[in-house]
This record gives sequence, C-alpha cells and structure tokens, in this order.
Amino acid sequence: MSETYEMSPVEKYDFIRRNKKTISFDGYYNHVHIDSAARTITIDVDDDYEFIEEGNEYKRLKNFDSPEQRLIDAIFRPHLIDDDGKRIGTPENEDDYRFFPIVSHKDITKKYNGDYVYRDVFHLNAHYGENNRTLFNPFAGLLIAFPIGEGLLDFCFSMFGTSPEDLLECALENLKYNSINKEITTPKARNKDELRDLECEYMRRSIVALDPYMYRSLYSSIFPPELEEISETSLKYYIFYLNELKREMRNRLKFVFDDAFYPEELSGLRAHERFAMYAQKYGVPRSFRREESFWITSRMDKTSLECSRLPMDVILKKLHSNVTRKEQSPLEKEMELAPGKVGVYHSVPLFMSVAYKCCTIHDMLELEFTKMLEYDIKFHKCKNCGRYFIVKGNYNAEYCDRIREGNTQTCQQIAAQKKYEEKLQNDKAVSVFRKYYKRYYARKQAGTIKPDKFRLWNYQACEKRDMCQRGGISLEEFEEWLEGSFNNKPMS
Ligand SMILES: [Zn+2]
Repeated sequence: MSETYEMSPVEKYDFIRRNKKTISFDGYYNHVHIDSAARTITIDVDDDYEFIEEGNEYKRLKNFDSPEQRLIDAIFRPHLIDDDGKRIGTPENEDDYRFFPIVSHKDITKKYNGDYVYRDVFHLNAHYGENNRTLFNPFAGLLIAFPIGEGLLDFCFSMFGTSPEDLLECALENLKYNSINKEITTPKARNKDELRDLECEYMRRSIVALDPYMYRSLYSSIFPPELEEISETSLKYYIFYLNELKREMRNRLKFVFDDAFYPEELSGLRAHERFAMYAQKYGVPRSFRREESFWITSRMDKTSLECSRLPMDVILKKLHSNVTRKEQSPLEKEMELAPGKVGVYHSVPLFMSVAYKCCTIHDMLELEFTKMLEYDIKFHKCKNCGRYFIVKGNYNAEYCDRIREGNTQTCQQIAAQKKYEEKLQNDKAVSVFRKYYKRYYARKQAGTIKPDKFRLWNYQACEKRDMCQRGGISLEEFEEWLEGSFNNKPMS
C-alpha cells in the first residue's frame, strides 16, 4: 500500500482487523455455543496447541523463573472443577502447578485489572474426564459459560493501556526468562508436520511473550494472536487492534443499547434499527459472516446435552443396556454388518453439537453483538456504580447485582438498604410532625394560638418535614424546631 493512499472508513476498519505479516489475530479455533432459551454463551476453548509430547517440548517450560511467571503460578492454582463445581483433581507435585486451568477469572482481575467487571459471571468448567495437564494457556480446553453480553462488557471495560514500547520490553523479558526464547532455527516448513510444529512454536512463544498482558480480559485470554515476530511493529498492531475493537464496541454500546442516550429520539427504536443508523454514520459494516458447524459426537458435555435434548434417563438407560449378540440381526444381515453392530447404537448415546467457529476477538465480539440484537438484550446503567449491566427479567431494574470492589453487598442490596433507611427517616419525620400538629392544633382550638400563626406554622413545618425526608436536616434538628415553635424560640 503506497503511503499516499487514503483509506476510506470501511477500508481502515478492515485493515485494523486484518492479519498482518508479523501477526495473525486468528490464533485459536474456538467453538461458541449459543443457548437461545437461557441466553447464554458457552465457549469451548481450543487446546490444539497444548498436546505436548512428554519430551523436549515440555522440559523447556519447566525452567523459567521470572517474577511474572511466579505471580501467575500463584494465581493459577490448579482447582480443576466439574460441572457441579466439585474439584476433580489435584496435582501431585509442585511442577504440576504450572500452567493449570484456574477456577475463577476473578483472580486475574484482581492482579491485572480490577476495574470493570464482576467476573463471577464466567463459569469455567473442564470437560468430563479431563485429566490434569500442564498448559501454556490456562484457559485452553475449558468450557466457559456466561450470559450473552457479559463478554462484551468485560472486553470493553478492560484496561489495555500499555504502550507498544512497554509491551515490547515486557515481552522480551518474558522470553528471556523462559527457555522458550531460543531462535526458531527453521522458520520455513517443508511439509505438513513441520508446518504444524512451526505454528505450535509461534503460538507458544506468543503466549509466553504476551503474558500477563493478554489475561486482562476474557476474550484476549482465549483469542490470543500468533506473533511471527516479537517486534515493536507487531506489538503495536496488537495494541492498536485491541484498543480499536474496544473503542468501537463502547461507542456501539452507548448508541445502540444505552436508554439514557437521546431517549426522546431513540427510545422508540429497536436496537438493530439504532445500529443501522450508527453504522451508516460511522462507516461500519452492517453484515457479518458467522460460520456455524454441526456435528455428531459421543462427547457428553453441557453444550451437546443442551443441543440434543436427550433426557438423562434415556442416556442412563442406554449406558446401562447390554446388547451383545452372537447372531446377526435381520438388519445386520441386510447391511452385511457383524453381529451387535446395530446394538452399539442402542447402548452408546450420541449427541449433536452446533457451534459458531470464532478465531478472533473481533469475530467473537460481532457474534455476541449480533446475538444481542437478535434477542433484544438490553443494558441499563446502574444508578449506584454507573456501569452497564444486562437487564434480566425486570425491565425497570436500576441497579446491578454485582459486588463492587471494597463492598460486601451488591448494588441492588445497597440501594435497597438506602431505600429502607430513607423510608424509615420519612416515617419518623411524618410521625414526629403529626405529634406536634396534634398538640398545636389543640392549642389553636383552645384559643392559645392564633389561627393565622397556626397556618404559618403549619406551612413552615411541612417544609421542614420535607427537608428532613430529603436528608437536609436531621430528625433531631426537625424535632428541636417543632418543640421550640411556640415556646421560647421565635419562629425562624
Ligand atoms: Zn452497580
């Protein structure tokens, strides 16, 4: 591209998101399942690069000793959990503690970001029967489930502020302390196997180099780029890419979902209509390719169960059935199959799986964004913490159910507590007002207080009562004023 060429907004948009010579943004091949009834996303994180021979490859990982890695080791405690949240494995010795699936993404938040998201919404599960393994990327091979919209929020409000220079320094340091930094001796592959080895090598180097930078949001953790060159240029592209995606999605969130944004003109429109207007103005594409796959699998997990809708008793019945045959059945005869081949289908449950293939953060964000449009999912801005949250059943919800750092209660609980206290204050203000009203009314009737004085007092007392309810004066001050109204103190 010549330097004088001027890109249109759409060309620029595409260019930022496209793979470059030194960096590819589509490192992993993740499967994204959507549960339309529950409005949840489950991401099956690629672990293709993690099958390391128990030989040289693995040993290279064992010797590192950088402070960052130690920190990560401390966070990534190996609590592998199953779908019921039970621990299913504990590593035997200290070496096994490296690169392990983690139990909660929240731990990373605390160390590296801690700003936006209440990350308990992300449920991390290992596959059934998964053994403990050492991993480059602690998220590899996990099923990560969360409500549609939470991934977007998490990404949009994560901090990616480091400059490329800082990141370069950090990346080189990471590599220096890892024995993985040796030069890639044969940067060219001569066949399929060598190509695969080379790709693995690039991916591992990338993950080690970007560590811990890439763990600042869920999506950057599970959609790592593949850096063919650890250089300022490639890292600049990466940072620019992350920041641009974030900027774009934040703008969209505001324009498309924020009901406080020009409500007079926009509240009557559906989200997709608002997005059409936004896209037209800012030169953003209004169509996206989403690649869906269907397959039949014997693997039983959360997503295949959901998709197949096979009742558990049917599955169990199949698993407990015993259909060994010594003779060919009529169908087996017809199909020329060995005895028992048909019976296998009666005793082995098979499932269906449907998923979108997502390889980049950009793919993932667009998928989630378009699902939000499809299902008309809404965000509100929390009136306590000021952050977006997904509106569930109650469309009037004003407060989120997250616990902000430093609090023990959710915003909803805090708001309810506040309301309760206000109500209590209101009730008390009203009751003390009534007490004095009765007293002075009686005196007016008896003639010791003149009617016009009483009217004036009543007017002032009502104002003071309202002020007390708003918290302008305390209950004690209000009562003191009432007490003094007709005695020693002149009316003020
Ligand atoms: Zn809140």
